[in-house]
Amino acid sequence: DGQRSITVLGATGSIGVSTLDVLTHLGPEAFRVEALTGASNIALLAEQARRVGARLAVTADESRYGELKDALSGTGIEVAAGRTALIEAASRPVDVTMAAIVGIAGLAPTLTAIRHGGVIALANKECLVCAGAFFLAECERHGATLLPVDSEHNAIFQALIGEERAAVETIVLTASGGPFRTWSRQEMASVTAKTAAEHPNWSMGLKISIDSASMFNKALEMIEAQHLFGLTAEQVEVIVHPQSIVHSMVRYRDGSILAQLGPADMRVPIGYALAWPDRATLPTERLDFAALSCLDFEAPDEGRFPALRLARRALLHGGASSAVLNGAKEAALDAFIAGEIGFLDMAERVEVAMDRLGDLSEPRSLDEIEEIDRQARI
Ligand code: NDP
Ligand code: MG
Repeated sequence: DGQRSITVLGATGSIGVSTLDVLTHLGPEAFRVEALTGASNIALLAEQARRVGARLAVTADESRYGELKDALSGTGIEVAAGRTALIEAASRPVDVTMAAIVGIAGLAPTLTAIRHGGVIALANKECLVCAGAFFLAECERHGATLLPVDSEHNAIFQALIGEERAAVETIVLTASGGPFRTWSRQEMASVTAKTAAEHPNWSMGLKISIDSASMFNKALEMIEAQHLFGLTAEQVEVIVHPQSIVHSMVRYRDGSILAQLGPADMRVPIGYALAWPDRATLPTERLDFAALSCLDFEAPDEGRFPALRLARRALLHGGASSAVLNGAKEAALDAFIAGEIGFLDMAERVEVAMDRLGDLSEPRSLDEIEEIDRQARI
C-alpha cells in the first residue's frame, strides 16, 4: 500500500470534480497530487490545486497564463499554460493518471501519460474510439494498465474478473435512453441544446449530456467496448434501461449473465479505478431495492436514434470509420451547441462524413488520427 501519486487531466470538468471529491475522501495518505489540468475554468483550477496541494497546475489555454499565475501566487504551486505545457504535465511519472479531458483534445496528453506506464484511469472514451488499436498497442508497449472509468465499461470490467474470455458470448451495454427516449423524431427536430443537456439520471458535462440525448454517447461506447474487451461487432449488444441502475452486463456461454449495479454516481467507477485492485469505502448512496420496485428494459430504436446504426456500421467496417464518426460528431455537436444546426442534423452530417471518407485506412500514429479528425470535421 502506501501513498501513490496521481495526475488529473481535465480536473475542472464533471469527471475531474468527482475525482477530486474521491481523492479528498481517500485523503493524502492514499494519494499525493502531482498535476491538475483544466482549460477555461481558471478559478476552479486554482482552488482545486490549493485544496489538494498539487505540485503543478496547467491550463490548456495559453492566453490564461497570467490569470492562473496570479490566482496561485505565493502558494509555491508551479503554473504553466498551453498545449506543450499540458503534454509536459502528462509526461511526469505518476502511479495513476485520470484521463478526463473531453473529446479528441484528450488523446495526445493521454498517449503521453501511457509512456511512463502506471495506471491510466480512462474516462476519455474518444481515445479508444479514434485511436483504437494504436492506443492499446501503446499501452501494451509501455506496460500501462488501462482501467475503464466509463460506468458501462467499468461494470463489464468488474463482471469479467476471474472469467475466461472464451466463455464470453456477448456484452450488454445498458443505455438510459436520455431525455428523448419516448419522443418522436418530429418532436426532437426542434429541441435546443439546453433541453438536450438535461439528462434524467446522470449529472455530466455539457457535451456528453447532449451525446446521451442523441445516443451518440452509446455509439461511442459500443466502439470503446469493442476495443477494450477485444470483441467482434456481433458481440456488442445495447439495451435501453431507463433507471440507470444496471450499469452493464456480460453474457456467458452457459446462459449466466453477470451484471454490476449501483447508484447513478460516477464516484463509484472513479473510486473503483483509483482503489483498484482494492475497494475503497465511499459515502455514495446505498441502493434500496424495496424502494426501487422495478427495473425496465426495452429494445433501442435505431430509427429514432440513427447514432446506434452508425456505430454498428463503424464496428463492421473498421478502418478509420470510428475516427471519422467521432470527428464529424464533435464538429456537428459544436454546431448544434452554437445553434447553427438542428438536433437531427447531427447524425445526418456524421453519415455524410462516413460516406465520403469510407475508404480511409486504420490510423497508426497520432498524426494520422489528427489528419482523419481534421477531414471528418470539414
Ligand atoms: P467536461 O466538459 O465537464 O470537462 C472537460 C474537461 O476537459 C475540463 O477540465 C475542461 O476544462 C477540459 N478541456 C476542455 N477542452 C479542452 C482542451 N481543448 N484541452 C485541454 N483540456 C480541455 O467533460 P466530462 O467531465 O463530462 O467528460 C470528460 C470525459 O469523460 C469525456 O470524454 C466524456 O465522454 C467522459 N465521460 C464522462 C462522464 C460523465 O459523467 N461526465 C461519464 C463517462 C465518460 P475547463 O472546464 O476548465 O474548460
Ligand atoms: Mg457511459
